[in-house]
Amino acid sequence: MVPYLDHYYTIFCPPGAIGYLILFQISAHEDPKFWYNMGQMNLTSPSQVKAWCIERQFHPNKILGQNFLVDRNIVEAIVDTGLSGAREDDIILEVGPGLGVLTEALLNRGRRVIAIEKDPYLAEGLASRVAETEEARARLVCIEGDALDILARDDEALRGAEIFVSNLPYQAGTRILLDLVETREMREMTVLLQKEVAERLAAPQGSRARSLAGVFAQLDYDVEIVRKVSASCFWPRPEIDSAVAKLTRHDRNADFGENERALFRRLVKTAFAHRRKQLASIFKNLVSSTKRPEALSIEEWKQLTKGLLNEDPRRLP
Ligand code: SAM
Repeated sequence: MVPYLDHYYTIFCPPGAIGYLILFQISAHEDPKFWYNMGQMNLTSPSQVKAWCIERQFHPNKILGQNFLVDRNIVEAIVDTGLSGAREDDIILEVGPGLGVLTEALLNRGRRVIAIEKDPYLAEGLASRVAETEEARARLVCIEGDALDILARDDEALRGAEIFVSNLPYQAGTRILLDLVETREMREMTVLLQKEVAERLAAPQGSRARSLAGVFAQLDYDVEIVRKVSASCFWPRPEIDSAVAKLTRHDRNADFGENERALFRRLVKTAFAHRRKQLASIFKNLVSSTKRPEALSIEEWKQLTKGLLNEDPRRLP
């Protein structure tokens, strides 16, 4: 922001007008409309973000999970984590750029970004909000649409992206993440999600939080919770806290074939639909284990899958 002001000082101000300059700088910082009227908004200033929405009569959409991140430290922490394993030439995929706070931080670090945004109004103005220069604009591709559809049709425009960094929308976040997990195309995924969802993704074998999503994700990714994020870091403020989770692809199950993976998903899905029951009762006449679904390790799920692979499909769930 300050270099932007300096630019104006040198163009418009007569020599010796220091008092005027200082006053100008103070009032510019205090007036939330200043930056976006200049084409540049501070996306981590709640007052500027609110003023931007009011002026455009833009009401954040609850169904689309439009809770904008307005905390600079969290933005930097997400981007630091997201890029920690990235190569210089990696393309970053982002779902739900919204006003563009993460997109801007990624572009400022010299990255190429592909962003998918469902809200047409936010998608249309993204480049002008976050890319100040032609050079930065050239590093951003914004696709308007539903990420669930775009990921499902294996869009050509997404080719080459192997790093995923996103503040995911509440409603569709888990599905978007699991779709990406299933493709195994991303090497690393850093996501901001509801705290409970992040805990379920990272939950180890035997934990009460162990879930379908966690077992699916951990087949190919190591999952860790990087940090908790308070509801006060967003505007509008959501009702629950969030957390940043990092998923790092591992190759421990690279030998697991496509047929095995399909059956694995089918078994895990069926089992977690009856998580209180024992496996013997869920998979009648096929499995004798008295364990409950959350008690199995990934290795045990793999063994179970391999054991049932040649079973008559009519007997399978
Ligand atoms: N990245 C911004 C931030 O951190 O402030 C906004 C994050 S906000 C939690 C989620 C964003 O995802 C919103 O901009 C919303 O419009 C968008 N969104 C919701 N559902 C979507 C979907 N199915 N596909 C793509 N974008 C979606």
